[in-house]
Amino acid sequence: MTDIHLCQPDSCKSCAACCGIYNYVRNTRAELVSRFEYRGRLMAKVRSGELSLDGYRDIVRRREDGRRIYKTIYTCEFAGFLDEARKRVGCMLHPMVTGGSDLRVHSFYGQEICDGHFCPSYQKLNNNEAMSVMNVVDDWYLFGSVITDIDFVKTFFTIVQNTLGEEIAPASVEASPLLKEILHGYFSLKVTWPFRDVSRPRFGKYYFVGEEYDIDRIDYQRLGASVPPYDPIFLSLSSLFKTKDELDRANTTIDKLIKGFCDEYGRTHNAHH
Ligand code: SF4
Ligand code: SF4
Repeated sequence: MTDIHLCQPDSCKSCAACCGIYNYVRNTRAELVSRFEYRGRLMAKVRSGELSLDGYRDIVRRREDGRRIYKTIYTCEFAGFLDEARKRVGCMLHPMVTGGSDLRVHSFYGQEICDGHFCPSYQKLNNNEAMSVMNVVDDWYLFGSVITDIDFVKTFFTIVQNTLGEEIAPASVEASPLLKEILHGYFSLKVTWPFRDVSRPRFGKYYFVGEEYDIDRIDYQRLGASVPPYDPIFLSLSSLFKTKDELDRANTTIDKLIKGFCDEYGRTHNAHH
């Protein structure tokens, strides 16, 4: 369990995953940026009194590609950029953004649900895991994808902590540019992974067929391999391995990151203690 505020941790990044931003079929960074920029221009008209909130919602619904990956999860029209620098995403109806009025009463979920929602990452991530993600990711798109993927974060930490025989201290990661780089490299696999299954709608280990979802299983037997320790990571990365060679390359990629992290952590952390 973590007491760190994962939704809006600092001025460089934030998350709006539960507002459904990754649930659009068109959910690349560039597609979300242009969606949010458009919403920002429209919201400026609401603030100046030129447009009502209902008018805003109608235009967004009409103009945007609203197709969803998982049909049952709502994609809220009021998620957007919260700052001029476009570093933080979140709720444009929140009182911190409107300057006082809580306009979330006008949203699909309503003020109470929006205000009281804390995703499972608050329960499942430990402080050192959450803090390490916060310290190395300074980008809303990557931050939201990583902080909400509990298996992806926890599997890395479990393996390195078991190897090192101690808990990772976020201060030690923060103090080492190389550790930060390795960890950032691992988290960035969320957007750079070459073995991603693009044949069907997916969120990490989940795949969707209409209103239904299921958890994927990678058929290692078919590849002539046993289940690797990185299986939860591969599932979080929505992997599809066509050949044993692809699986070997994937294992090598994670091996290198984990070994590199453990070597450097052992060296720098022990040097300070
Ligand atoms: S998904 Fe979790 S961390 Fe992200 S905005 Fe929602 S509650 Fe906050
Ligand atoms: S109204 Fe609720 S669901 Fe919509 S952006 Fe705001 S917090 Fe998210």
